Amino acid sequence: MKVAAIDAVPFRIPLLHPVKFAVGEIGHLEHILVRIRSGEGLEGWAEAPARQMIYGETIKSMVAAIEDHFAPALRGLDFHNVEEAWHRMERLPGNHCAKAGVDMALHDLIAKAAGLPLRQLLGGYSRSIEVCHILGTGAPAEVAAQAADLRGRFGLRWFKLKGGMDPRGDTAMIAAVRDALGSDAQLTVDCNQAYPAHIAERLVEEWDRFDLAWIEEPCAGADPQGRGRVARACRTPLMLDESAFLPRDVAAEAMLGNCRIAAVKMARTGITKSRKVLALAEVHGMRTVVGGQAESELGAMFGAHFAAAHRATAQSAAELSFFLDATERITTESLQIVDGKITLPDQPGIGLDLDEDRLRRCLM
Ligand SMILES: [Mg+2]
Repeated sequence: MKVAAIDAVPFRIPLLHPVKFAVGEIGHLEHILVRIRSGEGLEGWAEAPARQMIYGETIKSMVAAIEDHFAPALRGLDFHNVEEAWHRMERLPGNHCAKAGVDMALHDLIAKAAGLPLRQLLGGYSRSIEVCHILGTGAPAEVAAQAADLRGRFGLRWFKLKGGMDPRGDTAMIAAVRDALGSDAQLTVDCNQAYPAHIAERLVEEWDRFDLAWIEEPCAGADPQGRGRVARACRTPLMLDESAFLPRDVAAEAMLGNCRIAAVKMARTGITKSRKVLALAEVHGMRTVVGGQAESELGAMFGAHFAAAHRATAQSAAELSFFLDATERITTESLQIVDGKITLPDQPGIGLDLDEDRLRRCLM
């Protein structure tokens, strides 16, 4: 039951089309496969995305953190001892996504050793989870057509639109998607902190008419007074994402009370710290929504298990469908979205197996 080896394997999957948002553009997934082997020959896997424009971690820094620091620190440790694993990993500050990758792979391993699907290990609330699809920013008619097409093909009811490039363009895009999908679609908008508070204030008030489920990071998180004014300017609740994702930052935001919803992403807080965020949010009456970080199918499984396992997260759609934009996968099976939902498999662990041939084709 001991950690024998930890490897960090970078891979690259091109996307069907680039996905644009306020702070960047993604043309391909450049992520890391974290592979932990136990002495008994069991393997746990995870996908760790690098998002240098948000978290400051690169593929190279993540490989170095995992292979040079975490692998030697964890070798020989009972893989169930996640608390000690974190204690040892925290000797290297920062590196959130690298740590989250190791944490997720440990949980896959623990679930496999227990013979349980991960969702059963974590809480077992539900077997399926509704999916929210993220659409990159673009011409209103194009984004609306894309949303209508995805709803037709997969029964998706939840869409997140990316704003923050231009106020008028955002408003036109939201109007076009709402028009195309009608009132029963659930829409959210994420501005990735792009607008100054005085512009966001006017904009969110105008967006109340679109009946958005929430607005994510409309203005700089580093301006709490401004965010407070934005929150008070609209009926639509605001959601926290990249401006506060560690438990201590979510706790501070909960005390301020500007945001009523917190995003949890396995890619940056793993299973362990995501559960801490969940507990904090519950105590403060905040909703939690499982977000994605453009994961392929393997990475999406962690968000799917986590979201389905807990009652609080199972109430909202989770961002699990970025893989629909990918041209390749590294798993043997593809994830199926039927009637807007993913139903989780019953096999132990995350329930998807690594496809070594496909992975070899994607190696960087
Ligand atoms: Mg976001």
